[in-house]
Amino acid sequence: MGRVFVAGSINMDVVATADRHPRVGETVAGRQVLYFPGGKGANQAVAASRLGARTTLIGRLGKDSFGAELRTFLGDQGIDLGYVAETAEAHTGTAIITVAEADNTIVVIPGANGLVGADDVEVVPLLAGDVAVSQFEIPLPAIAAFFRRGRAAGATTLLNPAPAQKMPDELLALVDILVLNETELGFLAGVDLSDSDETAKIVDTARKIQVREDQTICVTLGKRGVLALAGREEILVQGRAVKAVDTTGAGDCFVGALAAELADGAALRTALAFANAAASISVQRMGAGPSMPTAAEVKAVLG
Ligand code: ADP
Repeated sequence: MGRVFVAGSINMDVVATADRHPRVGETVAGRQVLYFPGGKGANQAVAASRLGARTTLIGRLGKDSFGAELRTFLGDQGIDLGYVAETAEAHTGTAIITVAEADNTIVVIPGANGLVGADDVEVVPLLAGDVAVSQFEIPLPAIAAFFRRGRAAGATTLLNPAPAQKMPDELLALVDILVLNETELGFLAGVDLSDSDETAKIVDTARKIQVREDQTICVTLGKRGVLALAGREEILVQGRAVKAVDTTGAGDCFVGALAAELADGAALRTALAFANAAASISVQRMGAGPSMPTAAEVKAVLG
């Protein structure tokens, strides 16, 4: 059975709630301050580990209290943190989130995440059958080095190009499985997909960004499920009808679950159905990290 290695961001999300947002230069009294472990890398590792995959996180924390708290939380989730370095040069990645009037504003300071480099990822003991996962919240050269290492070892590389940014073709060529939502697909392909419910248009757009014939592009479609272009084959997994209360982290749950299932040796179609079911459970609960399901919960849904 393979393992999941996630090279990515680790953040503390600091959430302030208030009745209304302050105007520029104004101070308002808030109601509550809440602290949530976050960052796409950490969230995806939590999802994979909670589903039973042997999971290693690769990243950087600052030498500060948020770093210490995050290390404790992630360790408690059963994640191997042997490749999470501590750096004195920057503070732990932090997101400052204000929630008011059913809307939020977010300022993310990458801090230590911005210092993840090739030297952090090249030492990772990837083997054939493992899945190497990354996202766009650490520097692109580190992701490229990680995937080069993964491919040399015979591991599967999985990229979630979020938040969307342009990437060099050399990086895309190192990706075996790309998992992205419609907005990110539209951005990468330079196509407006905002009102497109049409499967054919999504497949055409996915085909545009496919740089290798054996590459898989998985487009998550929110409540409509997921559409994958695997080489030339198209696979559609319908979304599950559930009452969504908070879709934060749905994409991270999907990626972590897909990686866990592929590392376990599942075929792509089976792994997509599993990830779709896992993400449909996560949207029925509040928060990102705490909403990730266990394997037993996903199996119960799949019947
Ligand atoms: P992101 O969170 O990255 O924008 P999506 O919104 O596409 O990603 O959601 C990722 C996955 O989560 C979907 O492919 C689907 O499996 C699941 N999902 C998201 N929203 C819902 C929903 N309202 N009902 C059921 N499943 C959902």
